[in-house]
Amino acid sequence: MAVAKSEEKLAYDWGVIIFMAVIHTAAICAFLPGNFTWTAVGVAVLFHWITGGLGITLGWHRMLAHRSFKVPKWLEYFFAFCGALSCQGGVIWWVGLHRHHHRYSDQPNDHHDSRKGFWWSHMEWMFYQVPAEEELPKFIRDIADDKFYQFLDKYFLPIQIALAVLMYLVGGTPFLFWGIFVRLVVTFHCTWLVNSATHKFGYRSHEAGDESRNCWWVALLTYGEGWHNNHHAYEYSARHGLSWWEFDMTWLTIRSLELLGLATKVKLPKMTKSLDRSYAK
Ligand SMILES: [Zn+2]
Ligand SMILES: [Zn+2]
Repeated sequence: MAVAKSEEKLAYDWGVIIFMAVIHTAAICAFLPGNFTWTAVGVAVLFHWITGGLGITLGWHRMLAHRSFKVPKWLEYFFAFCGALSCQGGVIWWVGLHRHHHRYSDQPNDHHDSRKGFWWSHMEWMFYQVPAEEELPKFIRDIADDKFYQFLDKYFLPIQIALAVLMYLVGGTPFLFWGIFVRLVVTFHCTWLVNSATHKFGYRSHEAGDESRNCWWVALLTYGEGWHNNHHAYEYSARHGLSWWEFDMTWLTIRSLELLGLATKVKLPKMTKSLDRSYAK
């Protein structure tokens, strides 16, 4: 097991710090007179679902990071593209870092180890050069060579800028501020709550060997990701809400895709226990 470097020795990642400062400041400007319309708020909500729900939760997390179901390649790339629109870094990098989190959850070399505190696991860890990146190659063997994912890794920022120009052309500054900046900030924090809040608040249904919890309000904000203790216990499962009251919108979406014949090899807890962790092709 790799030894974590202490926080003090980590170098700041100024690119991320400046990017987050700019995006958050711009999001506040969305409330200035002339930048607010209810239609723009609707656009933000719609794109929160497309980029956070279909992109990050369904696409990057359950489909790619955990391979919990399969879809035709064109649909896989569509969901992955939706994820890229959330501007959370490159998809290959994201998947590698997430698999690393599951491997070392809440241990010292987990990049967002929740035992270092709520804010560290929520966003502070991103402000430093992540030592875990040195270990990523062994976690991304199945997607590192994919040309489309390499393209998304390289160009997610220009893609976001293109979307921003489109938003401005269609709906002026309200669409720009709400459809891009507010939507990005809200989606960021929803994703980050899965690393922070669901390793701190809620109940535990399984002994998963870490601090993971099931938290209903994070599940509502993240289309089902809040059932995080279930997820750490059965990380390959396409379904995270396992009890009838654990509403999991993404599971309903995957089940619908399965009924339409688009999703196959859908993994559920009882089928996953014997699977290994190699992530090899
Ligand atoms: Zn976790
Ligand atoms: Zn996961």
